[in-house]
Amino acid sequence: MTRTRAYLDWNATAPLKPAAKAAMIAALEVIGNPSSVHTEGRAARELIEQARDAVAALVGARPAEVVFTSGATEANATVFVGAWDTIYVSSGEHDSVLAAAKACVGARRVDLPMDHSGRVGIEALADDVLRGAAPVGKALATLHLANNETGVIQLVADMAAFARSHGLHTHTDAVQAPGRLPVDVVALGVDYLTISAHKLGGPKGIGALIVREGAPLPRLIAGGGQERRRRAGTENLAAIVGFGAAAREAMRDLEAIAQVRVRRDRLEAALCARVAGLTVIGAEATRLANTSCIAPIGKTAETLVIKYDLAGVAVSAGAACSSGKVATSHVLAAMGIAPDLARAAIRVSIGPTTTDADIAAFLAATDTILRTSALAA
Ligand code: PMP
Repeated sequence: MTRTRAYLDWNATAPLKPAAKAAMIAALEVIGNPSSVHTEGRAARELIEQARDAVAALVGARPAEVVFTSGATEANATVFVGAWDTIYVSSGEHDSVLAAAKACVGARRVDLPMDHSGRVGIEALADDVLRGAAPVGKALATLHLANNETGVIQLVADMAAFARSHGLHTHTDAVQAPGRLPVDVVALGVDYLTISAHKLGGPKGIGALIVREGAPLPRLIAGGGQERRRRAGTENLAAIVGFGAAAREAMRDLEAIAQVRVRRDRLEAALCARVAGLTVIGAEATRLANTSCIAPIGKTAETLVIKYDLAGVAVSAGAACSSGKVATSHVLAAMGIAPDLARAAIRVSIGPTTTDADIAAFLAATDTILRTSALAA
């Protein structure tokens, strides 16, 4: 007998969309190398360019500005191989941005703090820039569009407008936004934008860096002339095709976002009614409609995640753990969340195919967990 499970961890990865899966299976039949000039090669190239058009349309970019990468981690790393003199990095960035910024040898790094609500202001950036500390054309400011742990949406367009007017280049890690928030690289005004297929219903291991025309072109992987010499290596055809199919559908996901918000808000209201003193972290700020970072249902998030899992519900402990390790969240620490509360915080993240039954399963599991931990206390 197969037990149905409630998958409520969409910010870690979204389920593969059926259209993406079908397109990938069909692409596996295409034998050509997209760089080959013969018929088989041109058939593969055609599929890549169709996917590029779809990914570009998803974020308001021109197809020529899309550079396919192995995922968001690589896209983020690529931005930081530029010859930057100064980099401004918010403390709420994903580890792939923080690590890449740290590895940017020789660059002066300025941290942009988060306030208690999870928002990053531009004050620290403005103070430094107005002192004349950022050499024109050699400074980069990066700010994610929506936080993967709290869902808090950042004022990227404001930051970019200020930065641009002072000769800085700008990057946003927009991984959590497509399908949940309209994303337009032109309106955001950034030079570089990172996205990842598996957060929007595409396959894992494929992403893109949007490099606006005129922006310096950092290159992480040299070799063949693929991606207009911006990223070498034979293209992952099936993954790119799946990304394109998911990107086309992600635009339609936005039409279902009001319903996603209703379900998320209902879940939070039901939890608040069950748990005295429940904190919804980031709730004072504007958040993604699908994300809920909540504490405390129990003492430690790791234990809670296991209890929910045993009850058939997948949620995560703050940030998704990598290699099985669950570290204390640097995002919640940067927000000044008390360590005890941060340690207890779990993240519930839903999507367009989440059902009322999934929410009911989560609440039923919560009731069981609360009852059994009360008995144990
Ligand atoms: N940035 C953010 C905000 C993310 O949430 C993630 C995935 N957790 C990444 C970057 C890394 O993406 P990928 O798995 O495609 O390397």
